[in-house]
Amino acid sequence: MTNSWTNKEQPTTIVLFDVDGTLTPARKEISEAMKQTLAALRKKTVIGFVGGSDLIKQKEQIGEDVLDLFDYCFSENGLTAYKLGKQLASQSFIGFLGEEKYQKLANFILRYLADLELPKKRGTFIEFRNGMINVSPIGRNCSHAERDEFEAYDKIHNIRPKMVAALKANFPDYGLIYSIGGQISFDVMPIGWDKTYCLRHLEGEGFKTIHFFGDKTFEVRKLTSKSTHTHLSLDTL
Ligand SMILES: [Mg+2]
Repeated sequence: MTNSWTNKEQPTTIVLFDVDGTLTPARKEISEAMKQTLAALRKKTVIGFVGGSDLIKQKEQIGEDVLDLFDYCFSENGLTAYKLGKQLASQSFIGFLGEEKYQKLANFILRYLADLELPKKRGTFIEFRNGMINVSPIGRNCSHAERDEFEAYDKIHNIRPKMVAALKANFPDYGLIYSIGGQISFDVMPIGWDKTYCLRHLEGEGFKTIHFFGDKTFEVRKLTSKSTHTHLSLDTL
């Protein structure tokens, strides 16, 4: 199979990079040396980034001209995607679920939280993002001390694991995964919307080799089997 990357030394090889902790230090800006390395690599292979954050954040970290520096740009793991600066089909959490199903989910969450007794409760219990919702029993706008207090309380009382179990039991057919992370919240997103989501944009593009460089090992659910989990150990720069 051929593709259109005839200007590359290896036109059927694509090299993808995580952003935070890989192309840039966590939450910081890219170095000039890294930019030069990418420019040199781009002559040899097709290159792209796969970042969990949105394009605004990536412009802050990599530069306003980020769309010109890569052949493929995958923001929000590819929910927002660009090929040679032109936007590809995009997707969102609300687009996936639809308003009716989303409201059933949101109403269940708010009702569940209404019946929950915690040492402290603040505000912003559901944060609605493009590719996911983030749920926090204490509320995201709590103070740092309140955040620490909730984390310790959660470790003893399993507030988040119990809530996730209730959501799984009540919405088994929604096709969602739940990821407990950080101190005070968990993410809710469609199955397969991790870093592997971007691969959907590369299907039929004629690549024989796909390399991924990232700073973390994380859980990936195989798209071919709903029940199988596999741990991928990802290369580090
Ligand atoms: Mg990273």
